[in-house]
Amino acid sequence: MSYLQSLDSQKIAVVGAGVTGKAILQFLDNRNIKADVYDDKAPGALREVSANYDLAIISPGWKLDHPIVLALQKSSKELIGEIDFSWRVKEEIAPDQKWIGLTGTNGKTTTIQMVQSILEASSVSGVACGNVGEPVISVLGSGNHYDILAIELSSFQLEWSNLPRFVACAILNIAPDHIDWHGSFDRYAFAKLRILDFSDQAIINAQDPETMVRSSSWRGSKAFYSLDTPQAGEIGLVDNLLIDRAFTGDPSQAVDFAELSDIKPTVPHNVSNAMAAAGLALAVGLTHDDVRHGLKNFTLDHHRLESVLEQDGVTWINDSKATNPHAASAALMSQLSAIWIAGGLAKGAAMDNLVKRCAGRIKSAILIGQDASVIATALSKYAPHIPYIIMPFDGNSQNLMRDVVLKAQELSSSGDTVLLAPACASMDQFRDYADRGETFANMVREVVGK
Ligand code: ADP
Repeated sequence: MSYLQSLDSQKIAVVGAGVTGKAILQFLDNRNIKADVYDDKAPGALREVSANYDLAIISPGWKLDHPIVLALQKSSKELIGEIDFSWRVKEEIAPDQKWIGLTGTNGKTTTIQMVQSILEASSVSGVACGNVGEPVISVLGSGNHYDILAIELSSFQLEWSNLPRFVACAILNIAPDHIDWHGSFDRYAFAKLRILDFSDQAIINAQDPETMVRSSSWRGSKAFYSLDTPQAGEIGLVDNLLIDRAFTGDPSQAVDFAELSDIKPTVPHNVSNAMAAAGLALAVGLTHDDVRHGLKNFTLDHHRLESVLEQDGVTWINDSKATNPHAASAALMSQLSAIWIAGGLAKGAAMDNLVKRCAGRIKSAILIGQDASVIATALSKYAPHIPYIIMPFDGNSQNLMRDVVLKAQELSSSGDTVLLAPACASMDQFRDYADRGETFANMVREVVGK
């Protein structure tokens, strides 16, 4: 009996009623399979486990020790994550389909969208999915045939995965984030590193010390990338050209696949992402010309180093997606003199290294949110020359952002950048990072651009 046929007679539970849980339910429903849904918040979902199941499928973001998960561990014959479930389905309905996977603390969405752009420029059918766009199970259930799935994987998805096989995977970087969820940086890093267990070929950022050290004992084939001149087996930079010496078929050969000016914006971390995207695409058989065209066509998504306005020599940039110190650090290092708007929920991350690394780029700081004091303390300790102000909050995020923008206008002069790169999550004062970014951009246009 096939895997899909075997599901018909199984009693199934789905944990999580969010985007992924709904996608799993839809997939099952299309096959006339009913399932019980568990969620501790969503209306109509079950809260307590009182039945036995053959299979429980878990959405990403559910902790292994959540009471519902623990109860299902006792009452279900099998418990699997959505990626494993999708892999089983793929093995049956699209056995020749190739998967490539990508993870990292920052740059996942940008890099997988670059891969998507390369796929679009090629003659191969493929789509980016997973933590970006649609869940993998939706893509498989869509009825569209794809030769390649480029899957963005969060640490939450990797923690729950055991089965998939990737033709190649990429690890962009590993830096402190979601420590409160995973319990420690080591456990978070360990979850990310799991991607190597599912791959034969890895594309690794040679300039990220955590990734380099933590992947050193892995015995698969590694292609490194960096902004330095590439050795054989590496992707790198020579003058203004991005060069492949890893996937040319001949170690003595070097092939250029982009000019620096093709990568927009041309800032170090974005060039680095382009190299990872190129590595994944080349590893799965796409051509250097596909990569060239795909990268040329690509533009960054909203809230990622998004230029909002230039007025009186001051550039206003929205990088609201910088929800951890590592991302904010990349944003600050791509500016020369920043009025830095930061703060929110630090999720257990320290700000010390960020401040130490970027002190030379910060002219002054405007701090918001619950953990403003964490950044203030780091500034006082490691960069006491940088003035900062903590903005009061009256419960209205519009008012807050108006005050922030007015203050930034007062502090900035020609040649400065006003940079929203909060290093923190946003949910204490905004709906999400997009709401924070939009509120900022709208206020800049209203107050400064008028
Ligand atoms: P993710 O999906 O991993 O959150 P995004 O592409 O959405 O990644 O970017 C998240 C944040 O990280 C943005 O602020 C972006 O400017 C920043 N960023 C993107 N690539 C990198 C990188 N390679 N290193 C550090 N920060 C990055």
